[in-house]
Amino acid sequence: MFGPLIVKAGSSLNNKTGSWRTELKPKFLQKDCIGCKMCMTICPEGCIDGTVKNTFHCDFAYCKGCGLCAMLCPKKDIEMEKEK
Ligand code: SF4
Ligand code: SF4
Repeated sequence: MFGPLIVKAGSSLNNKTGSWRTELKPKFLQKDCIGCKMCMTICPEGCIDGTVKNTFHCDFAYCKGCGLCAMLCPKKDIEMEKEK
């Protein structure tokens, strides 16, 4: 029959999802950020980190380029740019 789809338990640390991404990736400008954490809250991959204003950034090993962070940032401090 069919084998199990998941053979081993693992954390997301072992399952980096950023090996593919949309054509765009977020650029955290770190200029006008107010530290509201909206980007961190909305990111479906949970890959945004930061503590105080102008420190927010993402881990591209997990970012899928969905653009939600840039869309919701109230200060427009995140831009989506073409993947190089
Ligand atoms: S949503 Fe924008 S202003 Fe708020 S923490 Fe993220 S980058 Fe900063
Ligand atoms: S583009 Fe999407 S996956 Fe990447 S950091 Fe922003 S919200 Fe997260």
